[in-house]
Amino acid sequence: MDILVQPHNRVIRAEPGVNLLDALRAAQVPMSYSCLSGRCGICRCRVLSGEVLDGGREQQRPLDGVDGAVLACQTYVTEPCTIEVPAPEEAVVHRARVAKATVVAIEPLAADIRRLLLKVAKPIAYSPGQYMQLGFTPTHVRPYSMANLPGEQLLEFHIQLMPQGRVSGYVAGQLKVGDKVKVSGPLGAAYLRQQHTGPMLCVAGGTGLASVLSVVRGAVAAGMRNPIHLYFGLRSPRELYGLAWLEQLRSVHPALQVHVVVASGADPATQRRGLVTQAIEQDHASLQGWQAYLCGSPPMVETTTLLALGKGMEAAHLHAEAFYLQGD
Ligand SMILES: Cc1cc2nc3c(=O)[nH]c(=O)nc-3n(C[C@H](O)[C@H](O)[C@H](O)COP(=O)(O)OP(=O)(O)OC[C@H]3O[C@@H](n4cnc5c(N)ncnc54)[C@H](O)[C@@H]3O)c2cc1C
Repeated sequence: MDILVQPHNRVIRAEPGVNLLDALRAAQVPMSYSCLSGRCGICRCRVLSGEVLDGGREQQRPLDGVDGAVLACQTYVTEPCTIEVPAPEEAVVHRARVAKATVVAIEPLAADIRRLLLKVAKPIAYSPGQYMQLGFTPTHVRPYSMANLPGEQLLEFHIQLMPQGRVSGYVAGQLKVGDKVKVSGPLGAAYLRQQHTGPMLCVAGGTGLASVLSVVRGAVAAGMRNPIHLYFGLRSPRELYGLAWLEQLRSVHPALQVHVVVASGADPATQRRGLVTQAIEQDHASLQGWQAYLCGSPPMVETTTLLALGKGMEAAHLHAEAFYLQGD
């Protein structure tokens, strides 16, 4: 079954009954999404021709009365159709590819966080904020966000070791310098929009800092002068890392404000206590005209998304990457 995707004018093949967002993601059509449950409205699309099944009509946010508007995460495609997805303000033009990389370093960043450096034969083109699928073995495969900038032979990742985590456990316990890693990508639509001149809200939960660091590094490297408010949310001070990099960015981009927000055990001299959503709520009456880059746990991304929309941010200006669990 063919789905014609506009404005890209691309035909993608899918099995009848497929979830529209899954089909778009599988075909690497750049799409932002967040809650996957029809609440946030980020994955809004328009059906231009053909019939689709709307799996969550009663839950859907008001769709502005736009003809044919659906939420891709709640929509199932059963016949050939034409779908219009939001035109990315700046389309990702990096074709995903598969490359072999070599582990050059595995370093501790915090008690349960490792910095992984991979070397590729040729730099891979990507946009700051994107991620790669890393295959350590055929059965140890997970997505991780790059923390550094494109154009380098090294790819830098920050990996949180999850309790009983299969792949992060493999990285901590078995992976060693010299091992080969299969790298597939780049992937993801939460990449830096360089044309935007307004304020940027960057929110990282734990190792979501990797993607956010790349976005901020990219903004600085591109000479963007936007005010940037970076919220770094942690469950405890044990997870804190990367302050030296943030300080260095602040020294070259004085319009960067960094807020470290710790849920429990915060040091009141340097950190705020609570959740990032509480800090953003306190700091900003309106987020109209802002763009947001969110990366971290699904609950953090989802609550921040709803807060930002409630404060007037346009859904099209929210770029989110949530660490949904991957099935094996
Ligand atoms: C787009 C994207 C980008 C990402 N980028 C990063 C990144 O930059 N850095 C990073 O650290 N992570 C990132 N992640 C998350 C990463 O891909 C993995 O999900 C993470 O490393 C955990 O994988 P794992 O195999 O170690 O754990 P898993 O074995 O998948 O388990 C994860 C956790 O869930 C628990 N769990 C598993 N199954 C169940 C269940 N059925 N019920 C309850 N609990 C369960 C496990 O005990 C464990 O604590 C990203 C995820 C996505 C989707």
